[in-house]
Amino acid sequence: MFDKVLIANRGEIACRVIRTCKRLGVRTVAVYSEADADAMHVAMADEAYHIGGAAAADSYLRGNAIIEVAEQSGALAIHPGYGFLSENAGFARTCADVGLIFVGPPAKAIEAMGSKSAAKAIMEAAKVPLVPGYHGEDQDDAILAEAAERIGYPVLLKASAGGGGKGMRVVERASAFADALASARRESKAAFGDSHMLVEKYLTRPRHVEVQVFADTHGGCVHLFERDCSIQRRHQKVIEEAPAPGMTPELRRKMGEAAVNAAKAIGYVGAGTVEFLLDEDGSFYFMEMNTRLQVEHPVTEMITGQDLVEWQLRVAEGGHLPLSQDELGVDGHSMEARIYAEDPDRNFLPATGTLRRLRFPVEEPHVRVETGVREGDEVSIYYDPMIAKLVVWGEDRNAAVRLLRQALGEVKIAGLSTNVDFLASVAGHPAFMEGDVTTRFIEQHQAELLPEKGKASARVLALAALHVLVKRGDEARQAAAASADPHSPWAQTDGWRLNDDNHHELYFIDDGEEVCVTVHYRGDGYLLEVPQGEGRAAAELRAAGETDHNGDLLADVDGVRIKAVVSQHADELTIILHGSSHRLAVFDPAMRAAGQEAGTGRLTAPMPGKVVAVMVKEGQKVEQGVQLLVLEAMKMEHTITAPADGTVAAIHFAAGDQVDDGAELLSFEVVEE
Ligand code: ADP
Repeated sequence: MFDKVLIANRGEIACRVIRTCKRLGVRTVAVYSEADADAMHVAMADEAYHIGGAAAADSYLRGNAIIEVAEQSGALAIHPGYGFLSENAGFARTCADVGLIFVGPPAKAIEAMGSKSAAKAIMEAAKVPLVPGYHGEDQDDAILAEAAERIGYPVLLKASAGGGGKGMRVVERASAFADALASARRESKAAFGDSHMLVEKYLTRPRHVEVQVFADTHGGCVHLFERDCSIQRRHQKVIEEAPAPGMTPELRRKMGEAAVNAAKAIGYVGAGTVEFLLDEDGSFYFMEMNTRLQVEHPVTEMITGQDLVEWQLRVAEGGHLPLSQDELGVDGHSMEARIYAEDPDRNFLPATGTLRRLRFPVEEPHVRVETGVREGDEVSIYYDPMIAKLVVWGEDRNAAVRLLRQALGEVKIAGLSTNVDFLASVAGHPAFMEGDVTTRFIEQHQAELLPEKGKASARVLALAALHVLVKRGDEARQAAAASADPHSPWAQTDGWRLNDDNHHELYFIDDGEEVCVTVHYRGDGYLLEVPQGEGRAAAELRAAGETDHNGDLLADVDGVRIKAVVSQHADELTIILHGSSHRLAVFDPAMRAAGQEAGTGRLTAPMPGKVVAVMVKEGQKVEQGVQLLVLEAMKMEHTITAPADGTVAAIHFAAGDQVDDGAELLSFEVVEE
């Protein structure tokens, strides 16, 4: 085995690779950007080298700098993880040229699969079934539109260089084709530096089923069964499982064989994934091959009992595949949920911020937590906003789903928006529990999966009030301990007031409304008058509480013991209760500024990014829903549309400008009815 391996990546995958290296006694070298000096992967590695600025182009994509570090540190092999340089044929070739081992396929195989259109041509020749479509060289607008017409709407536009669902647009009808093409090209150009498109028949109820393959340098090639990755938002996976629900031995054999043929057709070596769309009638079509380890590889590890990173290292040093096809088998069922910093209520817009609270379930053999961040770390605009992967194993699918739900309920994150509640609703949805999954699942069940957040329940408001009271009590006690006269009545923490009827009011902003909780002090706790329901009638609740050593709130609300997380940053409170969270702001009426009314018609940037297109002119009258401006952030496009019928009063940025989070993009005047 290698003595030392350099990991040319960051985050959870770098940590994942380092863990296997440690188990095998292989020393590890990390590289890091300016933004990652204190990152978890840096702390875990035996040595770490700074390679440049925060932006990936200035650090994790600097192949030559990384090769220099390998030479300097004496690492003989480079593991690229996924993303960054993992599918960069030029980098793989340079490694080989300077005598370093690239833990991945040969450059030629990466090249063959790097372009979706070229890959399709190779697969066609190898008799692997393809989705009907156009994957030609000619990129003329008219040729592409004609191809769409011939294939028949709806069609899917895909960036040939694409990945992660970027540069992809579903087009329902001919009239929408030109706009979709322009937008997909722009996104592809920005993300991959290339705008080559292909057009495919859009299947309406497919499943995404992919096959893990592995090949060695001695001609050995096996598959490690399939994964179902149908649960996707924005064409990106969020929950994956293995095996695929409802898979028959016959179909598994056919798909496995097709995947092995695909790998053999390009002289593949190492870990790869052949992605298929599985149609309702059982026919399957090649989509693409990913020439690296996938994000979702752990579910395969859980059902096969293998460590795929170890397999990668063994194959890379010239060894044989550890097991033959006959020796591999499926045991039980595994699921993975990807926890992202994002806002499901705003079309899963990526979020940034500090992980003020970050708690995961305790790891045990059936529950794995793959992460690259710790409490206090930042999710920045520079990298992928995935916070962690939660991986579970059960004896059958039912057991795995139940364990996943339970594990998600134990995840507690505060400080930024996440998709944890959303994942829990998917895992608890009856259709998901029955294995009735397609790539349209989220869209189809949107109403149940993304219910209106609505108003805080009386219990949530009671917990928020308790948090404020407990915190004040702690502060008063500390002040009393520090003061000269600890018995002063001013140091009392039980609400004692001179000439007071022993109650006072706490104010919160919830769901855009000001709500008031009246607190009456009782010897053993409080009596809270809490507004509840649509009309916010007051309910009376007895409440008492304290914080434990973890900082969790141990509360007793009307005789029910509750353990909750209430995390406060500035005025903002996040209350996490049984895997569902609610955000409130603490509000001091004395600080209320006069005339701070909403509806000013400011349209602001939902996150930091770059303006890529402005579709309107100052003074232009528009109808509600018309596209005004396109912002690119985290390599994705976000369109700002007119919130109502009105006039564009002023435009504050032009295409190419960088904007900060919250910056006013346009002033908009709403037409009064
Ligand atoms: P990327 O490389 O950007 O991830 P893929 O080609 O792997 O793109 O496709 C991503 C997802 O888009 C698939 O998992 C599937 O859900 C959907 N998809 C791709 N092609 C089609 C198609 N022809 N019809 C319907 N859905 C598709």
